[in-house]
Amino acid sequence: MAFEGLADRLQNTMQKIRGKGKVSEADVKEMMREVRLALLEADVNFKVVKDFIKKVSERSVGQEVMKSLTPGQQVIKVVKEELTELMGGEESKIAVANRPPTVIMMVGLQGAGKTTTTGKLANLLRKKYNRKPMLVAADVYRPAAIKQLETLGKQLDMPVFSLGDQVSPVEIARQAIEKAKEDHNDYVIIDTAGRLHIDEKLMDELKEIKELSNPNEIFLVVDAMTGQDAVNVAQSFNELLGLTGVVLTKLDGDTRGGAALSIRAVSKTPIKFVGLGEKLDALETFHPERMASRILGMGDVLTLIEKAQANVDEEKAKELEKKMRTASFTLDDFLEQLGQVRNMGPLDELLKMMPGANKIKGLDNLQVDEKQISHVEAIIQSMTKEEKEHPEIINASRRKRIAKGSGRTVPEVNRLLKQFEDMKKMMKQMTGMQQKGKKKGGFK
Ligand code: GDP
Repeated sequence: MAFEGLADRLQNTMQKIRGKGKVSEADVKEMMREVRLALLEADVNFKVVKDFIKKVSERSVGQEVMKSLTPGQQVIKVVKEELTELMGGEESKIAVANRPPTVIMMVGLQGAGKTTTTGKLANLLRKKYNRKPMLVAADVYRPAAIKQLETLGKQLDMPVFSLGDQVSPVEIARQAIEKAKEDHNDYVIIDTAGRLHIDEKLMDELKEIKELSNPNEIFLVVDAMTGQDAVNVAQSFNELLGLTGVVLTKLDGDTRGGAALSIRAVSKTPIKFVGLGEKLDALETFHPERMASRILGMGDVLTLIEKAQANVDEEKAKELEKKMRTASFTLDDFLEQLGQVRNMGPLDELLKMMPGANKIKGLDNLQVDEKQISHVEAIIQSMTKEEKEHPEIINASRRKRIAKGSGRTVPEVNRLLKQFEDMKKMMKQMTGMQQKGKKKGGFK
């Protein structure tokens, strides 16, 4: 997970000052020394660190903190606000053209994750905003790139516009936009060519595509793991081409987070999305405030709620609620619940979004055993329909058969059945209490 070291160090430092009823200038100085080291160690750009410390120091010894009743907490508030500001303040929205299609140009160096991100972005636009994107294969120099995009298009069941690698990218972009108009695709995402280094020829070509397609967004895709290199690439691309946003990929593998904290200040371009894995749904809108919150161990409840809303079917949730009320919840329902929670992402990542999660001892090393869940799923899947609806018929020989079918042991099957039984009992008790409550209310 990104920012591990930084989060640890900052949280320790904040802990020291949190409860203080009085904060002296010396306290602030001491704290800023630690914050400075933490940021430098996280590979945040040197000049960015300097400016950040200056701002936080000035505010921390100012009236808003010193005169407050809880100066310790005020300092933390200042750090959070300035961290948020550093990453761009408000979250930035994705453009919508007055007359569709909205054109998005994806640019970046080879290997940064440009083609993958093109697919992820299209997926997000459809899933979250109900859009109908078309992907455009304009990377004619890396032979595999066109194929890769076509494969992504198939996976997503989305149109991919390609003219092979013998036509100029500028012409491909021109024809793609025409085609999108005809087919009523409201977003056109152009996957342009990458190079190993920034060179003049590449930039000239990108400028030409830009002039012709008049894009609403130009997103630079950079690899978070390359740290300050990513920051320099962003700065150069912005100077030469003009960017509207950065997509920071591979944040899942970047433990330091320096690029995320420096890009906006150095390149003057906000981060709009972050890539958190290889899968097509591993792209998230970048929210500076939520990220600052996570770094300081204040949790990220909003993201958690959004994940739940995106993955839990509302109709199904209502149905389930009714089943719980009438105590007709079956093992099949239980299985479905497990599936929905799993869709939200790895469980340990979810847990880390809870406020105060960092203070729970051992959570850092916690590896939620996803295998355990798979075992439970396998056991339930090995039951017949009747068994799932009426688990009380599962006798010893059935237990043996289920264990064998799922590749688990009989004690594991027993444990699951017992847990399910307990859960049903609890539901019944709760329902009973509700019923009583209702009757009482009715006597008026
Ligand atoms: P391109 O040359 O810039 O088009 O790069 P690709 O899209 O081919 O990606 C290069 C590699 O990075 C591929 O193996 C991707 O699966 C991987 N990748 C892209 N984005 C992410 C991400 O957010 N996290 C991780 N872990 N891998 C990623």
